Amino acid sequence: MSMADMRQPIESGCPDGFQYMHPAMRRNYGLWRYHEHPRPGVLRHVAHGGDEIWTVKAGTQRILDVFTLRKLCEIGDKYADGYVRFTIRSNIEYMVTDPSKVEPLVKALEDAGFIVGGTANSLSMISHTQGWLHCDIPGTDASGVVKAMMDELIDEFKNCNMPNRVHMTTSCCQINCGGQGDIAINVQHTKPPKINHDQVANVCERPSVVARCPVAAIRPALVDGKPSLEVDEKKCICCGACYPPCPPMQINDPEHTKLAIWVGGNHSNARGKPTFQKLVAAGIPNNPPRWPEATAIVKRILQAYKDDARDWERINDWIERIGWPRFFEKTGLPFTKYHVDNWRGARNSLNASTHIRF
Ligand code: SF4
Ligand code: SF4
Repeated sequence: MSMADMRQPIESGCPDGFQYMHPAMRRNYGLWRYHEHPRPGVLRHVAHGGDEIWTVKAGTQRILDVFTLRKLCEIGDKYADGYVRFTIRSNIEYMVTDPSKVEPLVKALEDAGFIVGGTANSLSMISHTQGWLHCDIPGTDASGVVKAMMDELIDEFKNCNMPNRVHMTTSCCQINCGGQGDIAINVQHTKPPKINHDQVANVCERPSVVARCPVAAIRPALVDGKPSLEVDEKKCICCGACYPPCPPMQINDPEHTKLAIWVGGNHSNARGKPTFQKLVAAGIPNNPPRWPEATAIVKRILQAYKDDARDWERINDWIERIGWPRFFEKTGLPFTKYHVDNWRGARNSLNASTHIRF
């Protein structure tokens, strides 16, 4: 092959999705008229031109071994039209144009142990980050948290009993992925990093580590005659941002790395303006392999939402309507001093006005 024939390497980005789409979806791209939800886990889309397509959704564990992938592909070839796509929340979707294929496909998936559901007003799969499997900074195993929680919430995935969709996320460090949901289960560090001074000079680029700290709590220092770093612990907000560029700034700790639960985030401006998540439970034990304390709190929040929200209210809409004090009353979660953002940089977000608000 001559140099001229060689294609340019593609350095980043995912491949063009159109080549993998079901032909009916490709033909009708942007031309769908409406969609229906005939049963949990199944959607029917109807195009302006009259084409119809049924989508069957099943949950997967995201980190799939080759045998499970083969099994999923075999089901797709045998019972569907040979096209699949994975959603951002690790669900697999099969598309068929023949409605008589839907029920055998659902049965084949369920017989193989997969759970069909996650559509409309259900709890979709918890989207999760890598955890100990293949990231270098996690303080917990997000995949394990997902498995433990979804085992307990399986009925909410299979049925449509929620007031509206519920998206949940987990994260395994405090600064990077995770947090794009109605409920987020995030790592929470509760102590400043412990520095291994013997290794800093060999492993870390000190100016980058100093620059990384959002509150300027890190300074260069000489320790036992060696160049190292020091942390002003009064300033440190225990975010863990210094740990990725400098692993000797060890922040993960079996006792002091906890989980925290945040609710009410909204990325879109569909019904109201986008909102940040707010902390509702902190210092939850990071307790593998089943994380029972975190799961119990999530179940409590979901139950209160299910009992009290009006139809089609998302969690943030519900809290907006009833107010945060009633959210804590209804969920029975304690409101503590840790819920108050007392970091001095938070002055802008605190209610500093003298007006009384109701
Ligand atoms: S949340 Fe943090 S630790 Fe987990 S995969 Fe993302 S960057 Fe890695
Ligand atoms: S944990 Fe965060 S706040 Fe504390 S020193 Fe590291 S980067 Fe700074």
